[in-house]
This record gives sequence, structure tokens and C-alpha cells, in this order.
Amino acid sequence: MVQKTTELYRGKAKTVYNTTAENLLILHFRNDTSAFDGERIEQLDRKGMINNKFNYFIMQKLEAAGIPTQVEQLLSDDEVVVKKLDMIPVECVVRNYAAGSLVRRLGVTEGEHLTPATFELFLKNDALHDPMVNESLAVSFGWATEEQLATMKQLTLKANQVLLALFDAAGMLLVDFKLEFGIFNGAVVLGDEFSPDGCRLWDKETRKKLDKDRFRQGLGGVVEAYEEVAQRLGVNLD
Ligand code: 5GP
Repeated sequence: MVQKTTELYRGKAKTVYNTTAENLLILHFRNDTSAFDGERIEQLDRKGMINNKFNYFIMQKLEAAGIPTQVEQLLSDDEVVVKKLDMIPVECVVRNYAAGSLVRRLGVTEGEHLTPATFELFLKNDALHDPMVNESLAVSFGWATEEQLATMKQLTLKANQVLLALFDAAGMLLVDFKLEFGIFNGAVVLGDEFSPDGCRLWDKETRKKLDKDRFRQGLGGVVEAYEEVAQRLGVNLD
């Protein structure tokens, strides 16, 4: 069994540990919940456990659909063993409905259906508030190659197809989400996490928000909403 050794990196919601295996890491999902690039942080009881199990469930679905992911095995309620990727510092965002920064940037109406789904790149940099970038900048600055960017886009759009159907069957609209990729043995692999911290989910009938916007907008019931999403999908939280 793989064991934690030293702390490698402490992110806003997860801590990454080195392990006794050279190519594997352990991700610890904490209860910390942050918004506005880490300016606001609160502890939400049970969130680490819910996101860990939710992420594992989603990653298994994506893996089964042919999307390579870093996930190896669930280790505990709030820990997962993953491959050690060389992370690409560019976030891939897909949107099926307008919300969040797209509404602020373009003045469009929240909830507008986007067909086809949009694909955007953002630089992972809290100090600069994750500015929007494009393929040309990513290649020129050496963040990723053209081939890697093409694979990231293809895998992100494929994940969108898989997840749209999964959430639709559970009565939810997948509004948008963010994915991060890394390189393992030369191949592009899905890293980081997929949880309600990094996507928008609305109830299909009422459009009630069931994701981190409840925290960002002070709507309350954050963990209850995450739990409802997990339960609707059939994620085992016991
Ligand atoms: P927006 O660009 O509207 O702020 O975000 C689009 C989608 O990507 C949302 O689902 C949002 O949660 C997710 N997202 C964008 N940037 C980040 C980030 O730095 N961290 C997390 N957890 N999610 C992000």
C-alpha cells in the first residue's frame, strides 16, 4: 500500500503529498472552500469527503469513456492515489450555458444556451486572477505544445458529452466546468479534480444552483447542495 511521505504542495482546497512510490501522489481533499482567488476561505464540514468521492466517481466514468485520468485508487474518505503528472498551467473551460465570467465579460444573459459549447483557456495564476489566454500565447510561452493543446481540447469536449448525459439523466444541467491536464510518460492525462467546486450545475426544472456559486454568492446550503448532487448521481457517500 502506498504511503504519504512529504508534503509537495498545498493548494486552496487540496494538499498534494509525495508517496513511497516515485510516480504516485496522494491528494487530500480538505474542507477549505475558497472564492475570489483565495481571498475568502471557509471550512465546510464534510466537503472534503464529498468532493473526494464525487471526483473519484466522475473520473471513473471519464476513464470508462476513454479519457485518460490520473486517478489510481480511492485511499480513504478524503484521499485518493493519483499518477504524478507534470501539470500544464492552463485551465480548459467548457460552457453549455452562459454564466460567471462570460456574463461579466460579454454582458450576455445568464442561462443563455450556447451551441456549440464554447471552449476557453485561462492561465493558472491567482495573483493575475487567472487571465484568459489562447493557444498562440500558450505555445509561445512554452506552457504547452500545439499537439498537447489540441488533445486537451478534444478530451475536454469529449468529457463534456459524457458529463452532459450523466447530469441530464440525474435532472441537472451542466452549465460549465474547468479541467486541468498534465503529462505522464509523454501523454496528456486529465489531472486535478472534477467536483462542484469547479463546475456549475443547475436543477433542470427550477434552475436552482447546486455548485460553488452557492458559496461565491452567499446563498447558503453549500454542502447540502453538493450532497444532493452526489446522491442524485448515485455516488456512495457512506
Ligand atoms: P468562470 O470563468 O465563469 O469564472 O468559470 C467557469 C467554470 O470554471 C466554473 O464552473 C468555475 O467553477 C470553473 N473555474 C474557473 N476557474 C477556476 C478555478 O481557478 N478553480 C476552480 N475550482 N474552478 C474554476
